[in-house]
Amino acid sequence: MPLRDRSHKGLSGAAGRPPLRPWDPVDAVVGIGPKTAAGLAAAGVRTVVDLLLHLPQRYEDRSEVMAVADAFDGCGPVLLRGRVSVTSARRVRRRLHIADGTVVDGSGSLPVRWFNQPWVVDRLSGDGVTAFVYGSPGRARDGRLQLVNPEVQVVDDNEARDEVVPVYSRLGPLGGRRLRTVIKRAAVALGGIEDPLPPEVRLKLGLPTLGAALAELHRPSLPRGRDRRCRHVAVLNDRTGLEHRRLAFDELLAVAVEAADFRLRRLRQTAAPIRVGAAFAKACSDLLPFELTRAQRRVVDEVIADLGGTRPMARLLQGDVGSGKTVVAALAILASLEAGRQAALMAPTEILAEQLSRTVGCLLDRSGHEVRLLTGSVPAAEAEAIRTGLADGKIGLVIGTHALFQDKVAYADLGLVVVDEQHRFGVAQRQRLLDKGDAPHLLVMTATPIPRSLALTVYGDLDLSVIDELPPGRSPIRTEVRDASARPKIWRFLRSEIDAGGQVFVVYPLIEISDTIQATALEAHLADLQEALGGIEIGVVHGRLDRDQRERVAERFRGGELKAIMATTVIEVGLDVPAASVMVIESADRFGLSQLHQLRGRVGRGTRPSWCILITGDQPSADAEARLRVLARTTDGFEIAEADLRHRGPGELTGHRQWGVVGFRFADFHRHRDLVARAREVAADAIRSGRLTSLREALQLIHPMGEEFSIG
Ligand code: ADP
Ligand code: MG
Repeated sequence: MPLRDRSHKGLSGAAGRPPLRPWDPVDAVVGIGPKTAAGLAAAGVRTVVDLLLHLPQRYEDRSEVMAVADAFDGCGPVLLRGRVSVTSARRVRRRLHIADGTVVDGSGSLPVRWFNQPWVVDRLSGDGVTAFVYGSPGRARDGRLQLVNPEVQVVDDNEARDEVVPVYSRLGPLGGRRLRTVIKRAAVALGGIEDPLPPEVRLKLGLPTLGAALAELHRPSLPRGRDRRCRHVAVLNDRTGLEHRRLAFDELLAVAVEAADFRLRRLRQTAAPIRVGAAFAKACSDLLPFELTRAQRRVVDEVIADLGGTRPMARLLQGDVGSGKTVVAALAILASLEAGRQAALMAPTEILAEQLSRTVGCLLDRSGHEVRLLTGSVPAAEAEAIRTGLADGKIGLVIGTHALFQDKVAYADLGLVVVDEQHRFGVAQRQRLLDKGDAPHLLVMTATPIPRSLALTVYGDLDLSVIDELPPGRSPIRTEVRDASARPKIWRFLRSEIDAGGQVFVVYPLIEISDTIQATALEAHLADLQEALGGIEIGVVHGRLDRDQRERVAERFRGGELKAIMATTVIEVGLDVPAASVMVIESADRFGLSQLHQLRGRVGRGTRPSWCILITGDQPSADAEARLRVLARTTDGFEIAEADLRHRGPGELTGHRQWGVVGFRFADFHRHRDLVARAREVAADAIRSGRLTSLREALQLIHPMGEEFSIG
């Protein structure tokens, strides 16, 4: 391993190193060793370009230093300059470390508290250091003004202080200043990046080159003068500038091109039709314990018509959580099985796959077809037996996760592929499963309501069916918006619900930037809530637990053994528990409305009257309440999606790409609305001029569509 020269902070690479190139592995960047590189790879970052596609979450103008004495509660983030020291530190429990200290300048002193940052003790004990301290003053429980987890930058550090600082959300093992530093170093490679957009397209849209856009986003060139600088920072933070537009456009185009390509290929294919006879209707009514809703019947008809055609079906089934999509899928599967063809039903997580296998397995139980579950946790011998059964055609339906399209899996005659929660899969993953058959039919299910204009671009390759009616007998969910002061009352309500036989969720948003703080909030509430609930056990689910641990909690909740779950949003998919009647969401204003709506769908699945209680965070923005009231007013997913677009761009709130409406990372339909149709036009032009494939390949390099989105 080459020796890394840590003292060298130059941007052109250490002496004797070749200049950094865009497609170099990340550990070519000074400061990234093999261990960090492995952690980054786990977060999907392998090359210098991958690293540079991690855009700042926001930009902070730190050009003006405030006197400590001038800081007040609610003044927003401020930059202080003074002596920072730690005076006491303690480990409260296993995952909670607290350090207290102060920042002092000529004007006064301000208490500082660090949660779970034990390193500050080593660095700031004794006399402390002179540093820039950046954070938002707020009130502690005892009413004192304090800073919590501020960013501390030692003044005599040899890194020059930037006036406007890009702030990045955590990226695998890297966060804070260290991440900022390596990204800054990586940015020198941008000169060598090839632009995937043909110049004439780029010029027509008035967009910068990809390299220029990325360089500007990571190291903004700032105009002189306070007003102009402020305006510039505002544009960066609003993501309305040309640079953000460029990234958004490429991403939209990558998706549009992918959809166009899929459609073209499909039009050239011939499928073996799956026809159903009169016996099918009877089989359906025999298997179903209820009548289909009108919407379900309409969609079943559409699907059956597609299946009977000689082109492979490619249909998107959209419907709210609980609207009965799975039932429709089960009938399509039944049609396929009755015609002697195999079917595969794929879900993004094991929890969801297991749930599907319970519901679908139950529906098809008496149909006489063999149904099996294949996931990563199926024991090797059993998995082998399932693969044999699929290869020789003995197994009719297989339900599972990515395990369904692995190389060693072969199907005797795959006639139908159903994909649930489509937006969590890369298109390439869907394709890999389709490639296991000879032009199989495809049904994609999503609970995400997508505005029509967008659906054309994103799902342009699919025909659309909508289930716009809920099955009868659902108890409506009452939604209320409350502030934190109502918490004791809410907790008493939870207790009475549990006493009456209900089950409850309390959800905390996990926002990357304040990861620690939110997890801490959950943990800080745990003991209190437990007490409020009379000492019962509370299941805790968060992303730092491994999948097995999460599923064990979910299983116990499903079985009714656990009455309460405290969770970060990892519970969003996969739990279908009829007795769950209350969903409390903390810091609800930090979620997108569509996401809240999805979370809310976890309750109201049985006949118990259900509640969703949205608690606003400490500093709700002006329109946060109004935004949340949309949820109190309506349960119409499309209306909610539209409101989301009006109020804020989807995905922005968490920065997690998987939470975007359809998993977008850069595109934001609020800000980049106009680009959606443009992307579709450019894709159509590319088809006409025979350049679809080359454009697709160039874009794929930057925006791979096949990537697996991690869950939780
Ligand atoms: P989705 O997949 O859209 O979230 P499901 O198909 O899982 O919805 O259905 C949710 C619940 O509603 C399931 O328990 C299912 O059995 C039930 N259900 C579906 N369709 C009907 C119907 N027409 N009448 C009564 N219950 C239904
Ligand atoms: Mg479902």
